[in-house]
Amino acid sequence: MSILKVLRQIVQDVSTAPDLNAVLQITVGRVQKAMKTEVCSVFLFNQESGRYVLRATKGLNAAAVDEVSLAKDEGIVGLVAKRAEPINLEDASSHPAFHYLDVTGEELFHAFLGVPIMHQRKVLGVLVVQQQERRRFDESEEAFLVTLSAQLAGIIAHAHATGAIQMAGEKGVAKQLRNDLRYDGVAAAGGVVIGEIVVASLPSDLDSVPDKQSDDVALELEQLEQALIAVRKEIGLVAENLAGRLSKDERALFDVYLRMLDDNGLPMEMRAKIQQGSWAQGALREVILEHVRAFSAMDDPYLSERATDIKDLGKRILQHLQEDNNGRNLEYPENAVLLADELTPAMLGLVPEGKLSGLISITGSGNSHAAILARSMGIPTVMGVVDLPYRRLNGAAVIVDGYSGRIYINPSIELVQAFSRIVVDEKVVEDELRVLRDLPAITKDGYRLPLWVNTGLAADVPRSLEQGAEGIGLYRTEIPFMIRDSFPSEQEQLESYRTQLQAFAPMPVTMRTLDIGGDKALPYFPIKEENPSLGWRGIRVTLDHPEIFMVQVRAMLRASEGLNNLRIMLPMVTSVSEVDEALRQIDRACEELREEGYHINKPPVGVMIEVPAAVYQTRRFARLVDFISVGSNDLTQYLLAVDRNNPRVAGLYASYHPAVLKALDFIVHEAHKERKHVSICGEIAADPGGALLLMAMGYDVLSVNANNLPKIKFAIRSVSFARARQLLLSVRSLHDAEEIHQELRQSLKAFGLTRLTRPLMPDQKTPSC
Ligand code: PEP
Ligand code: MG
Repeated sequence: MSILKVLRQIVQDVSTAPDLNAVLQITVGRVQKAMKTEVCSVFLFNQESGRYVLRATKGLNAAAVDEVSLAKDEGIVGLVAKRAEPINLEDASSHPAFHYLDVTGEELFHAFLGVPIMHQRKVLGVLVVQQQERRRFDESEEAFLVTLSAQLAGIIAHAHATGAIQMAGEKGVAKQLRNDLRYDGVAAAGGVVIGEIVVASLPSDLDSVPDKQSDDVALELEQLEQALIAVRKEIGLVAENLAGRLSKDERALFDVYLRMLDDNGLPMEMRAKIQQGSWAQGALREVILEHVRAFSAMDDPYLSERATDIKDLGKRILQHLQEDNNGRNLEYPENAVLLADELTPAMLGLVPEGKLSGLISITGSGNSHAAILARSMGIPTVMGVVDLPYRRLNGAAVIVDGYSGRIYINPSIELVQAFSRIVVDEKVVEDELRVLRDLPAITKDGYRLPLWVNTGLAADVPRSLEQGAEGIGLYRTEIPFMIRDSFPSEQEQLESYRTQLQAFAPMPVTMRTLDIGGDKALPYFPIKEENPSLGWRGIRVTLDHPEIFMVQVRAMLRASEGLNNLRIMLPMVTSVSEVDEALRQIDRACEELREEGYHINKPPVGVMIEVPAAVYQTRRFARLVDFISVGSNDLTQYLLAVDRNNPRVAGLYASYHPAVLKALDFIVHEAHKERKHVSICGEIAADPGGALLLMAMGYDVLSVNANNLPKIKFAIRSVSFARARQLLLSVRSLHDAEEIHQELRQSLKAFGLTRLTRPLMPDQKTPSC
């Protein structure tokens, strides 16, 4: 077998192992065999003891596992870890760092190759191979071990994190967890909630079916039986309908399907799992995925292809089980915390309003659109908790700390008490800020800055008015498009736009034309791309589909008839030709409507500056349009080349990166040279420190999420414009995002605004913005 194939096979086997011990056991066994060495061992760092513990071995005395350990700077293993690089020795025992480990029996071995297991810049442990013979492992062996270790690190880290939750197959599992299990993700929407997890499973998606225990074995068995009968019938019908058009081999495939559904096939295994207490969907998932794994691992291409068939069968059965469950299990706990593999904006509607109190997503990051909506709804959210074994957590008690991006599963009474105090304090601040509702955002020295809101969900309108918004700076029109199953008609769009325009009239409402693509997918208009952020997004899509663009613009214009508070905004603009073309189409829509008898005034039209190329053309764009609005969420992503949805690089997404601030400064000055109004609707404006900087730069309007609006107003009312200018000047002299962050933190403290920043957390010493 080629090296690559061996590597793939090991990684595949390891990644499907049920727990950390199995991961390590498989690793040492497979590596020892593949490299034909006498010994392979794994040492892992133990946080509590601060030592590297022998966690698995093939070749050394098995009794030494978990018994033997080395201090951080002890032995050659310690040296590999300290240097974070491989050490390859002909005779380990003659190396000055050699430390003889009692009971392992390693005195027999001379050749030694150790490589660090690195995950996110940290040494998790050391992977070692040894041989009796005195020889250096050759380059290809070293390369093999380094490559393998790099691939295993993520799997080991994940297994380590999930290892704390071991409960499959037990009753009342969620209650049996260890206390205060902490998982780190990305802070996505501030606030704290103490609640109960509800795992969101997607229709027909086996992978997202959560573990659940059922007390009613008979009912679960019955449901499974009904689903099986239905699927057998379906397959029979399809086979019959296609009979004349299929070859003998193809017909045989349907028989294989039916045989798999025989009482002695897959159903028997599913029933056994139900008997052990699982609900039918969970039993189905386990059995199907086990078989899928087994088939995918087969060398024979015909057999490995069968994995797809089994998954397809599983999906069909699941569909029936889920239909059966409609109307059942729809009771949500009072403080429901929705947990999803990939939280989408559409999912926010899954839990009824009033019950949804927190959100957790395994994928995604702080600037994913689901996170942005969660912020506007004021729902504490943590995204990118990549190590969370989410399927096992239905019903578990949880604390979501949306400030630090941490969650705690099965929190202890002490932790609940500590976080409850924060919840109470936050409520007090919220109540105090409510009195600002009808007061203007005006600095101590009389500088007035209008505060508008970003909307998307229908509920944003009343919430925004309640918070004292003076206009809508960004209505993300794609959001309502996302929670439907086909493009809305002109009339349907008109009605929903009219509601927003009417509710705010005479205050301005800025409607952005459809900005789909990236992480905003329409279920009925799938866009599959390797690199969606750099692909077919925003104006690029709508200019290619004038029929979609024109219907939307016509609906906006008709909705504003008689109100005249509409502004139209174009997203993701890169070139002048795009602006020209969009303006032509808007003009055409106005003309058409006038010809049809509508009384339409052409609304102000603006462009968003979100792409670096647009930054340098701000002045040119400003000549063509009526206003400029900065989309700093995307602009930051593109300037820093950091995917706003990727939790792995979330730490690099720095809103206060000096390059971002320079661009923001440049845009406002360029647009003002043409005397055009400049607003900003990215999330930086909703951060108190960011808002003060933007005001000082000269932004004419800040458009923020409704939830943060009172905080921003309070910040503006607490400073003078002159102090904000000083802050901007000192920030301009700094060259590092973290330094700038520190400077803002300290200034906010000096302005008496500490309470607007995140509170001090129970397990933290210092607060941060
Ligand atoms: C932005 O990119 O800053 C913006 C406001 O648009 P969205 O977040 O919807 O991409
Ligand atoms: Mg954007």
